[in-house]
Amino acid sequence: MKLQLAGVCMFVATFGLAASAQDGNEAARRVQANVLGIDGHNDSVQRVLYDNVDLGERLSDGMIDIPRLQEGGVHVPFFALWVPTYYKGSEAVRRTLDFRDAMQRVLDKYPDRIELATSARDIERIVTQKKIAAVLTVEGGHQIDNDLAVLRMYRRMGILSMTLTHFRSNDWADSSTGRPDHNGLTPFGKEVVREMNRIGMIVDISHVSDKTFYDVLQVTTKPVIASHSSCRASSDVPRNMTDDMLRALAKNGGVVGVNFSASFLNQLDAEDLKKFVAQENSLEPNLTGAALDDYAAKENAQIGSHPRVGNATVEDAARCIDHVVKVAGIDHVGIGSDFDGIPMVPRGLEDVSKMPNLTAALLKLGYSERDIRKIMGGNFLRVIREVVGQ
Ligand SMILES: [Zn+2]
Repeated sequence: MKLQLAGVCMFVATFGLAASAQDGNEAARRVQANVLGIDGHNDSVQRVLYDNVDLGERLSDGMIDIPRLQEGGVHVPFFALWVPTYYKGSEAVRRTLDFRDAMQRVLDKYPDRIELATSARDIERIVTQKKIAAVLTVEGGHQIDNDLAVLRMYRRMGILSMTLTHFRSNDWADSSTGRPDHNGLTPFGKEVVREMNRIGMIVDISHVSDKTFYDVLQVTTKPVIASHSSCRASSDVPRNMTDDMLRALAKNGGVVGVNFSASFLNQLDAEDLKKFVAQENSLEPNLTGAALDDYAAKENAQIGSHPRVGNATVEDAARCIDHVVKVAGIDHVGIGSDFDGIPMVPRGLEDVSKMPNLTAALLKLGYSERDIRKIMGGNFLRVIREVVGQ
């Protein structure tokens, strides 16, 4: 740390103060070039399925595509296959397959630029080959239709983790933004957690209620992740984690990926999330098949691909990471951008190409290159190795 500061001071002395800001970015880019770049959550597959966007091109809208992932040093994005909770029963399973198929189209079109990763070793090999290592996740336990066989087949399709709920509670787990129907996890919910442990699938506790979170920790024998949550110390919303939850997560050996939604990082933007959740949870289309898919496409189009910029800034994201480090320790924090799934972004983190700004903010807070490598992938890789395997 001292050496690094000495380096910066020397540079400023040599080239004058005007160059200092640029130097900060240069230092960040150098650090960013050496990180694994794991991002625990994005919603970009929705753009592929709904809008047929080509993730191989540098797009003028949205927050993620292959060129911008490379620019931002995010080499291992977790692509969430998210089906809205108004898809019920087997409809949710069918729609999960549609998303898995959409992702396959991306993988098949660009085999020399992006590849499916299903182990820790895969991730390291693919990144060494300068390709994007795509990790697949399912976002919402309703997508297994209460059937462990479906869960097991998702794992066989290369899906490495599952978020237990989305905004609504499902038949076996309460959500942080849904009705507390079960006081946490039901006996079947506990079975889901045990089965995920057994088949090497990471349990993701983002979105679940506080009680569900503590129930999961009672049952799991493996580390869990909160793929895209932040801290209530930054913004007091139910999707974020209390300090007590952060400490419990550390004890479990888990990792929280800090979410970049402005509402999660700055209290001034918190109201926006409330409206977003209320709107999402009020939808009850009562349709099936193609009619339901058309409804979902229209609803998705209303959200749009040009997000607003909130009061939150890239410094708020760095401060939230710093808070997790102070409470849970440096080994239990990562990145979970939620890019392409958040309606409001922080200034300075508008899309994935801006990631070096976050590294610059962390350097400014005194973080060493070694620490930043943990935050930007090392910690998540450890969990993948422990749960999914080599
Ligand atoms: Zn989510």
